[in-house]
Amino acid sequence: MQTQVGPGATDKTVCLTAGRAGRIAVFLCLVLLPIAARAQAAAKPSPPAAARTADPVIAVDHGPNALIQESKHYVVLVSLDGFRYDYAKKYGAKNLLSLAAHGASAPEGMIPAFPSVTFPNHYTLVTGLYPEHHGIVANTFYDEQRKQTYEGTDPKTSADGSWYGGTPLWVLAEQQGMRSACFFWPGSEAEIRGMRPSFYLHFDDKFPEEKRIEQVIAWLRLPAEQRPHFITLYYSNVDHAGHDYGPDSPQTGAAVKHVDELVGKLWARLNALHLPIDLVVVSDHGMARERGPWINLDQFPGIDLSGFETEGSLLYPKSEEAAEAAYQRLKRVDPAFVVYRRKHVPVGLHYASNARAGDPVVVATGPFAIRAHGPKAGEEDKPPKVGMHGLDPRQVPEMKAIFYAAGPDIRAGATVKPFDNVNVYPLLAELLGLQAPPVDGSLNVLSGILVAEPAP
Ligand SMILES: [Zn+2]
Repeated sequence: MQTQVGPGATDKTVCLTAGRAGRIAVFLCLVLLPIAARAQAAAKPSPPAAARTADPVIAVDHGPNALIQESKHYVVLVSLDGFRYDYAKKYGAKNLLSLAAHGASAPEGMIPAFPSVTFPNHYTLVTGLYPEHHGIVANTFYDEQRKQTYEGTDPKTSADGSWYGGTPLWVLAEQQGMRSACFFWPGSEAEIRGMRPSFYLHFDDKFPEEKRIEQVIAWLRLPAEQRPHFITLYYSNVDHAGHDYGPDSPQTGAAVKHVDELVGKLWARLNALHLPIDLVVVSDHGMARERGPWINLDQFPGIDLSGFETEGSLLYPKSEEAAEAAYQRLKRVDPAFVVYRRKHVPVGLHYASNARAGDPVVVATGPFAIRAHGPKAGEEDKPPKVGMHGLDPRQVPEMKAIFYAAGPDIRAGATVKPFDNVNVYPLLAELLGLQAPPVDGSLNVLSGILVAEPAP
């Protein structure tokens, strides 16, 4: 059951954040074009087809698993986009609650990186880096040096590895001779550090949900030499429902129960394989009910953003003077947001060091929809969606995400206090027995959920 369906029958989406100038905000869902994307995929030169399984899986032949990796454990990492930290209890997601009982969970949530939107957080989860360090600072942002805009929903940029920093887990695995597979994940369509997953697909939000599970199981049934040890899987239903109907709606409750059933099916199928598989279920961010109409930054008295590049609420000045002038005009004009010169963005937001975040930086104080400009003359404007995210999770707890893990390496019934999602990466590297580079996260934060303490 697809609970999403927004206005506009063509939209499919993953919720990403900021979109193109004019009709974007701090958050926003993406509209993808599965058909166009597929056509484009078909037109691309195919990678070596040696291990091609089923269309539309793209196989890249990296040879067999290194012998030393064959005996390592497996990790299936599932993302449920927009699944707020309290949804499982609120809506009775019995499979996730059972996963918590059989494994580990964060009952008060996992803290997403700022901004709490899809692309930055998915990429943080698989790199252990805050967005300012991996470079995907929003779903859509401008790069002053490249004079280009990154858009998560545009394969021309989202599949271009030169935008991405860090070493995603699938790249880390492949570098160490361990096969990996991505059934969707932001960044997984790009060649990063010269490497791709052994198996991946072009994003198609309409791809049948149960078939995604079938494919994951098929990968795990490959001969041990070819079998991927690290696998990602993604569902967007809960995010769509949250945006369209709000976090407290029956539609969102139904989407929660639906993806919970998918998790239950996946878990049962994984258990039936009798392989040492750790199942980890996360989300990228939560959801809050939006309050009020659009706030257009260019509407405040004395502000002139005409010389700025803008993306959503991100502001890119042409000069230091322009940045300072915008800062002076925007500070304290509206309690709905705080504005900082980028170098003064509070340390806890980890958003000061990357020019892609713009300057000044506008941070909403609550669930308000903020954008640089309203629609151009003659362009249609739509009110903000019912549900939104993208906010500072320390100010708006509804932004918190989920973390569940169960499997042979995870202690049953373990619980952890809220933790930054940069700490997932070192945990997954440990479960997979991979050597991890230094990142913003630390294994210490989650090592307590492991059955065996890691070697010092
Ligand atoms: Zn969203």
